[in-house]
Amino acid sequence: MSIELSIEFFPPHTDEGVEKLRATRQRLAALKPEFFSVTYGAGGSTRERTLAVVMEIAAEGFDAAPHLSCIGSTRAGVREMLADFAGRGIRRIVALRGDLPSGMVDAGEFRYANELVEFIRAETGDRFRIEVAAYPEWHPQSKSPREDLLNFKRKVDAGADSAITQYFYNADAYGHFVAEARALGITVPIIPGIMPVASFSKLARFSDACGAEIPRWMRRKFESFGDDTDSIRAFGLDVVAELCQRLIDDGAPGLHFYSMNQSGLTLELCRRLGLAAA
Ligand code: FAD
Repeated sequence: MSIELSIEFFPPHTDEGVEKLRATRQRLAALKPEFFSVTYGAGGSTRERTLAVVMEIAAEGFDAAPHLSCIGSTRAGVREMLADFAGRGIRRIVALRGDLPSGMVDAGEFRYANELVEFIRAETGDRFRIEVAAYPEWHPQSKSPREDLLNFKRKVDAGADSAITQYFYNADAYGHFVAEARALGITVPIIPGIMPVASFSKLARFSDACGAEIPRWMRRKFESFGDDTDSIRAFGLDVVAELCQRLIDDGAPGLHFYSMNQSGLTLELCRRLGLAAA
């Protein structure tokens, strides 16, 4: 059975970061991903840098998808970006609401991602393949799991082709989410987002903010390693490889790696899963 891989980057802030990302991409190219995606700072803060990385990836012969978050944006501004994307030959967009950056008060003309998806379809028809976000452990601001699922359905009904999930370490959460989505008539692929563990302290902070759970047994074990980065890396690889294997065995259609602009962990995970050539 073939598994589609996709890999996410963030746009670097410095020339050195851009150079490092080129080297990272060269190594990850061996995995022949379906596409690479590049995140977008809500409020448009990374617009130019996101596009620059996307265009470099495209020039290297890979499908590249900019993320586009709509919070703080106007319809005219998004229309202009869509025209820019189309003019550059971009064919895939990861469409998001985003989170209002601190200090920014104007939420703009889109309240939720379903409105962005609807707008993209109304403006550009089938020009773009649209990916949206999904939350197996529920979005932290959602009123209830049911509401969150119905809101996910709104994005699909508005025209999303596929979904990528927030990362999680509990395969059951994904399984339940997919089953509930299917029961609601949602048929699009739901690709699990995979976060390899490079630094536990960073992961713990980030997970608290985005509502992804690190199971207690894992958290305690990571904490017990203190600053021993080799042990953190080794244990992280073991648990994430087991998670990926279980997801594949349970029929996940693909894996989307949050690479954090690093190649080593993603490559090693794919090697263990038999998804890499060497
Ligand atoms: P939505 O789908 O709009 O959902 C947001 C909240 O509103 C949820 O609680 C939902 O239940 C509720 N909701 C949705 N629709 C409605 C409605 N019609 N009525 C009432 N309530 C509703 N952020 C960035 O800034 N840049 C990125 O590049 C980026 N990439 C990401 C990639 C992936 C794969 C994922 C999973 C997340 C990414 N994020 C990114 C984070 C994302 O922007 C945040 O999680 C954000 O808080 C929600 O975005 P969303 O598109 O899921 O929003």
